[in-house]
Amino acid sequence: MHCNRRTVVIGLGSGLLYGRAFAQGGGGGPIDLAIVNVRAWTGRRGVFTDAIGLRGNRIVAIGAAAVRAQHAPRTRTIDAKGAFAMPAFIDGHTHFLRGSANLLLPDLLRVDSRSAFVDRIGRAARALRPGEWLLGGPWDEQRFGGVLPHRRWIDAVTPDTPVAIPRTDLHSLFLNSLALRLAGIDRTTPDVAGGVIERDADGEPTGVLKDNARNAVLRVIPEPDATAIDRRLRAGIAHALSKGVAQVHNTEVDWSVHDAVRRLRAGGPTGMRFNSFVPLRDWERVAGLVAAEGRGDDWVRWGGLKCVSDGSLGARTARFHEPYLDAPGQRGVWTTGVDEMRAMIPAADAAGLAVTTHAIGDEANDVVLDIYADTVRRNGPRDRRFRIEHAQHLSAGAIERMAAQQVVASVQPYHAIDDGRWAVTRIGEERLKRTYAFRSLLGGGVTTCFGSDWPVAPIDPLTGIDAAVERRTIDGAHPGAGIPNRRSASRTR
Ligand SMILES: [Zn+2]
Repeated sequence: MHCNRRTVVIGLGSGLLYGRAFAQGGGGGPIDLAIVNVRAWTGRRGVFTDAIGLRGNRIVAIGAAAVRAQHAPRTRTIDAKGAFAMPAFIDGHTHFLRGSANLLLPDLLRVDSRSAFVDRIGRAARALRPGEWLLGGPWDEQRFGGVLPHRRWIDAVTPDTPVAIPRTDLHSLFLNSLALRLAGIDRTTPDVAGGVIERDADGEPTGVLKDNARNAVLRVIPEPDATAIDRRLRAGIAHALSKGVAQVHNTEVDWSVHDAVRRLRAGGPTGMRFNSFVPLRDWERVAGLVAAEGRGDDWVRWGGLKCVSDGSLGARTARFHEPYLDAPGQRGVWTTGVDEMRAMIPAADAAGLAVTTHAIGDEANDVVLDIYADTVRRNGPRDRRFRIEHAQHLSAGAIERMAAQQVVASVQPYHAIDDGRWAVTRIGEERLKRTYAFRSLLGGGVTTCFGSDWPVAPIDPLTGIDAAVERRTIDGAHPGAGIPNRRSASRTR
């Protein structure tokens, strides 16, 4: 319902608005919208209200008396019939377009038969325009009997849709006959070096292409057009809103989401708010954009830059002071050179842009904090809101430094219950104590924001909050994710 959706959007930042509502409650004319008979949590612990009044897109009255006082004949009223309401969520870290694209793909890892496999591919194909490629929903033949799929299974349900779906290990692709034809592969096509074209007993390609054999089809798959991207975004927005998310930050390493959401915005309100981060390397381009057009509006905002300083714990590329326990001598990598960061971050900051840096290993976090401190010394104080994305493994003094330097920790609690399954074998008990230290961050006075990292984790804030509070690994094998005293208990602010 549009009005409800709008209410959710307006709910953003209501902790701040709550105070303001009382301050403005007396004046400013009648309210445009009254939501009454509601059980609304205001965003402050234990503080509920039974009515909300809005003028334009601002909450200006809280409580039945205040709402009644500003009610006018033209005020629209929604009777919530006792329903619960709360401020909407902001997801501080998403890869929104990738997540959105996945929503339209068949979920093939949760099929238990060949007929379900075929059925889901057929349904996904029917949702596409003729000629549009169906490219995802990774599959695993073990889920449907252990036999590699054959293009004949799906040709009848994908007559106008070229299909090229990766196996879950990403080393094989499964094509239908149309895609094989477009790739120019038939029974006469020889295998290429480092690749295999699977063939059946008759010598016909089955549709499964392995490793280098995939290149023939990868070459002919076109980039998605604007219509396809818009449809994906709309699906992503609907999904995010259904989870109570009314704003996402796109912490991207390219301009794909920025371009896509700006195009969507050009056609009207996007229905959900976007805060767009693009690569730090392009800071001059962003500075130019801000100079020419400002920083966007409430629907799509920009001016943020993302830098990636190191890799990930999973790939043993997160940068640590000490080596990995299971890879002696390896301390991870810098994905952006330290000198390069030292040059770019102060320059972007001096241009008034907002910098956030991905840092997972403890050394990466320390070096980023050093660079942020140098930047402040050089450029002087301002409301810059430096952020660190992940802030996953911290050295002993890092939390105090983050608080003192007013660096925002942008953390994704779901990773704690995901990586928590095996993190101890990689970095040991001692470093684990300062891993996903949400409780310590909050207790130490660090401004902390949660996010999902969708599609790496579900875009469901309640799942993320549950992960932060309970810290049960997703395999159930490590209660407390090995670090029970770091639970960010609900009683923390
Ligand atoms: Zn991410």
